[in-house]
Amino acid sequence: MGDGVIPGLVKGLATTARSLTRHTHTAEYPDVSPALPPRSRGVIALTEENCTSCMLCARECPDWCIYIDSHKEEVPPATPGGRARQRNVLDRFAIDFSLCMYCGICIEVCPFDALHWSPEFEYAELDIRDLLHEKDRLGAWMATVPPPPALDPASAELAEVAAAAKPPRAAGARGTAAGATGAAGARPARATRVMPTVTPPEAGEPE
Ligand code: SF4
Ligand code: SF4
Repeated sequence: MGDGVIPGLVKGLATTARSLTRHTHTAEYPDVSPALPPRSRGVIALTEENCTSCMLCARECPDWCIYIDSHKEEVPPATPGGRARQRNVLDRFAIDFSLCMYCGICIEVCPFDALHWSPEFEYAELDIRDLLHEKDRLGAWMATVPPPPALDPASAELAEVAAAAKPPRAAGARGTAAGATGAAGARPARATRVMPTVTPPEAGEPE
């Protein structure tokens, strides 16, 4: 035996003895659920009513694992004589969680708050194809999305809240207001832009 064996053995035994008295960090899952932060990235939930099939999330997803199908539908005019409008109707919205890398880009880019993080993570499957969640399953995850944190009491009122609190504008109010402003409130006519004219040089004259 070499000279360094005994000290090395003692050092190793001391390390083992020290770790015996330390608190264990082994998670007893699934017997004990882990205490995850409420905003953990577990699964993505969909609010179908908010989705306009704009395709932004599918285009920005780095893994190309969002599948959207939609068709256009004509909406009759709201008032007689109005113009019919077209809107997208969502036929399919699916996320393949076997490809998703949980980057959250789709949630960040959605302009209509249709996607949200849920901390739920217990959706392991025996067949990888079952990790493709269609819109019904994505919608069911919404029940597990935590409510947004309360606003700072000193923060400014949200533009959407202020707009919703405004009284509805009376019909024809715009025309009346414009008429009441009269010439004093009228916008000054924009000056006509004059383009410089270029005279072609005479024959024999240096350019
Ligand atoms: S979290 Fe990232 S990878 Fe997953 S679906 Fe969204 S954009 Fe794609
Ligand atoms: S970005 Fe939002 S609104 Fe647009 S398709 Fe995706 S989920 Fe729907």
